[in-house]
Amino acid sequence: MPEKSKRISFPKEVREYVFQRDNHQCQSCGKTTKLSIDHIIPLATGGSNDISNLQTLCGSCNSQKKHYFDSRFDRRFS
Ligand SMILES: [Zn+2]
Repeated sequence: MPEKSKRISFPKEVREYVFQRDNHQCQSCGKTTKLSIDHIIPLATGGSNDISNLQTLCGSCNSQKKHYFDSRFDRRFS
């Protein structure tokens, strides 16, 4: 069984790398404020902490995405 990736706080260098790669824009709506690092494939569903699984999202897109995945998660396992 593969070991699950743990949620970590990203080093400053990683955050800056991802922000720069994504031009300091939310990859969903294009906003440039309140940016955070998001896991494209959530850790809960087997995603990794690799840079290729990270993207820049603004706070509101990030929380919408969490709701979306949470409801799928609930359906799948209920
Ligand atoms: Zn956004």
